[in-house]
Amino acid sequence: MLQSLGAVVAEVRLPEHLKGLSGLIVPGGESTTIGKLAAEYGVDQAVKERYDSGELAVWGTCAGAIWIAREIEGSAQKRLGLMDICVRRNAFGRQVDSFEEFLDIEDFDTPFHAVFIRAPILEPLGDGVRVLARCEDAPVFVSQDRMWASSFHPELTGDNRLHKRFLKFCKR
Ligand code: GLN
Repeated sequence: MLQSLGAVVAEVRLPEHLKGLSGLIVPGGESTTIGKLAAEYGVDQAVKERYDSGELAVWGTCAGAIWIAREIEGSAQKRLGLMDICVRRNAFGRQVDSFEEFLDIEDFDTPFHAVFIRAPILEPLGDGVRVLARCEDAPVFVSQDRMWASSFHPELTGDNRLHKRFLKFCKR
């Protein structure tokens, strides 16, 4: 998706892979696995340092959103813990309850086609967090400083508006 928009992309698996990047998308998957491996390889510390120094914008999607959250309801799993949100994992149900929804997102003139797969709810913990979209009244897209978190998978439909917006956000 980013490549089709002309961005130079790299996969990040080790701390040194962050060098030169102005943005990081932490993808969906399994947040306990992401947390475990990120801690084992020191990716968590490296992301924290680059974020704190103002060099990096971060967008966590689904499991990635869980990983960047400060609080994870009922779980002590490893995390980055940078964003002031409390997430409830699998809040919309199990894998078989996956669904698609058209969301009203701030500043978009038409709804955004979003895919939810074992998606979390992202509850803000402070005034610094802005809710940019809701699904069934629950916050599913939020921002804070140079961070975004979305419950859904924005890469699974042809709609590239959010990726476009993220690239602009990284440049800023
Ligand atoms: N439910 C998964 C978790 O808690 C996230 C699912 C996903 O990323 N689609 O990690």
